[in-house]
Amino acid sequence: MTNSMSTYSPPNDVVAVEEAFAQRLIQRGQLTQQGLERATRVRGAGEAGRLPHLLSMLGLVSEREVAQVLAELLGLPLALARDFPTVAVLEDKVNRRFLSEFRILPLADDADGVAVAVADPLNRVSIDAMRLRIGRPILLRVGIASEIEGAIDRLHGRRGSGRAADGRAADSATDDAFEHDIERLKDLASEAPVIRMVNQLISRAIESRASDIHLEPFEDALHVRYRIDGALREVESPPNRYRAAIISRIKIMARLNIAERRLPQDGRMKLAVRGTSVDFRIAITPTLHGESVVIRILDRSSVALDLASLGLADEDFGGYLGVLHRPHGILLVTGPTGSGKTTTLYASLLRLHAPEKKIVTIEDPIEYQLDGINQIQVKPGIGLDFANILRSVLRHDPDIIMIGEIRDVETAEIAVQAALTGHLVLSTLHTNNAASSITRLLDMGVQDFLLTSTLSGTVAQRLVRRLCRHCRESYVAMPELVLQLGLRRYSNSPEIMLYRPKGCTECHGTGFFGRISIFEILVVSDAIRRLILQRAESHELERAAVQEGMRTMYDDGMSKAAAGVTAIEEVLQVTRDVFIGDSNAGRCLQTGNFRISPAVNPAADSDRSSVAHNRRGLLRSTAAAASIASAKESNALEGGGTSVEEILETIEEAMLVAKNR
Ligand SMILES: [Zn+2]
Repeated sequence: MTNSMSTYSPPNDVVAVEEAFAQRLIQRGQLTQQGLERATRVRGAGEAGRLPHLLSMLGLVSEREVAQVLAELLGLPLALARDFPTVAVLEDKVNRRFLSEFRILPLADDADGVAVAVADPLNRVSIDAMRLRIGRPILLRVGIASEIEGAIDRLHGRRGSGRAADGRAADSATDDAFEHDIERLKDLASEAPVIRMVNQLISRAIESRASDIHLEPFEDALHVRYRIDGALREVESPPNRYRAAIISRIKIMARLNIAERRLPQDGRMKLAVRGTSVDFRIAITPTLHGESVVIRILDRSSVALDLASLGLADEDFGGYLGVLHRPHGILLVTGPTGSGKTTTLYASLLRLHAPEKKIVTIEDPIEYQLDGINQIQVKPGIGLDFANILRSVLRHDPDIIMIGEIRDVETAEIAVQAALTGHLVLSTLHTNNAASSITRLLDMGVQDFLLTSTLSGTVAQRLVRRLCRHCRESYVAMPELVLQLGLRRYSNSPEIMLYRPKGCTECHGTGFFGRISIFEILVVSDAIRRLILQRAESHELERAAVQEGMRTMYDDGMSKAAAGVTAIEEVLQVTRDVFIGDSNAGRCLQTGNFRISPAVNPAADSDRSSVAHNRRGLLRSTAAAASIASAKESNALEGGGTSVEEILETIEEAMLVAKNR
């Protein structure tokens, strides 16, 4: 009987109802047995809350499905947002905090009683409390949690104002008092406002196309920043008193130890965000003012693993495919951390994927799962390093092997062996340009004659931000800039047009939208092989490659800047590392030859601040920077965008990450 709700009372045997609830979802194919087991485990690990709520929080079942099945099971009507009132009902009798706490919303007050939507009809306390509070019969409906929350905000005051009131009403003890109380933290982390804050933090990050969320505790507040298109952007901080609870909540979600606050921890989680399943990697590091958290968002749907859309110029695409489709040999992709190497390799594997090919990858970590490809995670802790796995993989006779990274001579030598025995090997190296990856392998100890018979090509790449098409502004490049940067080569028109970011609603005011790679592709020709055997320096290798038609990353970047795809500063920023250690950078620039210095691996620098210092010094000393500075002075490049300092910070962070790997 669904209309005698005044007599509805939550069942005594909640466990039995939860069991029936789970079974019904499984029967309908809305939940898998594994999903149920996972929720049970999480619950065992200290996550509070009832099963229906837990399932939706874990992203295993949508909130709507939860509400529907609960309503059916308990014989209660469903109340959707369209059934909600437009003005607050019984505002004088209930307070916002109570409604939020129990996610309960009065819908209508008439002769039969008060219709109320509740997200958790199994919660006896909330329903009894409501009944006592209003002193009238309750006509219970089941609502969707987020819809109820939204309506409470809308009808009973916004969360912002409510928050301040909550703060005063709440226990007056400060965060510090809770710092040492794990149980209390656990409770706090399971409270609705904290769960909501964390969920919002994550869903907003995904909405704004962020790749990472950084939560950094400082004395005054928990600072939150999103990395969007490679640059960090500060967003609103959550109330300071929730900082410990928010961190604990994230730990619970990632199934980490919430009592451990002195050691770094790493974890993973999967959540359903707006209908798609998204993977997250969580890294927690203790800092002076508490634990800092980086959440990496691995949203498969936001990454185009399509070779054609990575940014390979038409001139390069054919050359790359030529190397990729060789039946055996080694193809290396090189660049610093965060330069898009993995994406290029994944896109290449998907391009090669065919039923008659066996593809195995050895990765650390596995970033995206690829259908039909055997992916193996490196676990050095139990002896599964790249070299060990590679040896065992070769016994399984794959056609194509992707090695996440060649870090040591052992791995390099097995890769060479694999290529010699007829396998196609794809891998990455940390070097600054295509030519220096060759000298790096030789320096590691790979025999030159083995390298010449196996290496088919090396690709270097960097990511630059794409200008927002809706708001980019064109300007005429100043003659000095054209001269210094050799821009004449990238355009036929008498006046060279460049583009700069402006900022509009489409790009959230940043002037950029998404990123694109700039590439250089060095195909190992006979001339290059001769140079390898002569132990030529990387700049000689590069010169030979350019003579044979290689477009450098700089060329590719400048072409993209001249075409309005990116801004010239972006290209200069990411190709800057080739200047390190070269006191003649200015001169090289003027001759249009960007690479004379040997490449330096940023990760090899031992001290972060000295790296930062070097880079700043370098920035001041290069002609490129000087020309940008002078251009800025003459307003040629005015109009917003990211400052050089800001981008340098990004590079430093990337290097720090690389160093900590
Ligand atoms: Zn825009």
